[in-house]
Amino acid sequence: MSAAKFDQIGQVLRENQRFAVLSHVRPDGDALGSQLALGLSLKQIGKQVRIWNEEGMLDKYSFLPQANLLTKAPSQAEDFDVVLALDTAIQNRLGNTVNAIKSAKIWVNIDHHPSNPRYGDVVYIDSNAPATGQILFELITNQKLPIDRAIAENLYVAISTDTGSFQYPNTTARTFEIAAALVKIGVDVGRVSQLTYENYPRRRIELLRDLLGTMRFSADNRIASFSLSLAAAKNLGVLPEDNEGLIDHLRAIHGVIVAIFFEELSDGKVRVSMRSKDERVNVCAICEKFGGGGHVLAAGARVKGTLAEVEKKILEEACDVVSRVT
Ligand code: 5GP
Ligand code: MN
Repeated sequence: MSAAKFDQIGQVLRENQRFAVLSHVRPDGDALGSQLALGLSLKQIGKQVRIWNEEGMLDKYSFLPQANLLTKAPSQAEDFDVVLALDTAIQNRLGNTVNAIKSAKIWVNIDHHPSNPRYGDVVYIDSNAPATGQILFELITNQKLPIDRAIAENLYVAISTDTGSFQYPNTTARTFEIAAALVKIGVDVGRVSQLTYENYPRRRIELLRDLLGTMRFSADNRIASFSLSLAAAKNLGVLPEDNEGLIDHLRAIHGVIVAIFFEELSDGKVRVSMRSKDERVNVCAICEKFGGGGHVLAAGARVKGTLAEVEKKILEEACDVVSRVT
C-alpha cells in the first residue's frame, strides 16, 4: 500500500511546479524539519517552493540548514498547483498560512497522527511512524528525490525531537536504520544534538523552576501536572516555544503514568498537553473528549475556561481513566 501511495505522491511532486509546504501552528522540530526537508528536495528538482508556518522560523530551530527559507505567510495570497500539509492532525492547525493560498489544484496530507481525519486529495497517514520526518525519508528515498546533508539534518532533527531522542516506544529498528542512513549522508550527530538539546535560553530553565513550583499529584501519584498562568509567562518573558519538552520532567517520575501541562492562553482557553507511559491509558481519547487529539501516548487540546476550571475538568477525567485501567 505504501509503495503505490508513494508512487502517487511522487507523481504529484514531479508533474507540478508551484508548491506550498505547510505545517501546524506552535511548530515543533518535526514540523519545521519536515517542511524544510521536503521543501529543499523539491527546490533541487527545480520546483517553485514556498515554505510557510504561522509562526515563521523559531529562534531555537534557526540552526536548521536553510532555515531562512521557512517564513510566515505573506498577506498577499498566491496560486499553487500543490499544497503539502505535513505533520498536521487537523486542517485548522495550519493556522493563518491557508489564507495565503489563493488556489491549489491538489492538497496532499502527509502525517503520523492516528486522529488525522484524512483531509485532502492525496492522503498518506502512517500512525506507526514516530515522526513525519521518518515518513518523508521513506518517500524521498522510495521516489529517488534528492537528499543531501542539509535535507538529512532537517530529517534527523525532525525524527530526533519527535522520538524524544530515540527513546519513545514508537522508535523502531527502522528509525535507527534511517538515522544511520542520515548520518552516512553527513549528519554531524554531536553538533546537531548540541544545537537541539544544549542550547536553551536561560528563561526556559527559569520557566521550569516556576512550573515545578506548581507541580501537583493526583490519582495516587499516577498523575502529575503543572501549570503556567499568563501572568507567570509574562513575568518570565517566555515564548510559546520555550516549553516544548518540559512536560517530560513529569513523565520521568517513577510511578507517574500520565503527565499533564496546563498553559493559560490569551483567548480565554487553556492549552492542555498530555503524555502517557502506559498504552492502556489513551491520552488522545481523553483529549478528543475536549475537542483535541494527537497520539495514544502524546496528545493535546485547547479547552475554554479559566486555568482552575480546566484543571479541574481534565484532572477529573484523567483520574477516572487512570483508575479504571490501572
Ligand atoms: P504537544 O503536547 O506536544 O503540544 O502535542 C502532543 C500531540 O498532540 C501532538 O502530536 C499534537 O499534534 C497533538 N495536539 C496538541 N494539541 C492539539 C490540539 O489542540 N488539537 C489536536 N487535534 N491535536 C493536538
Ligand atoms: Mn510529528
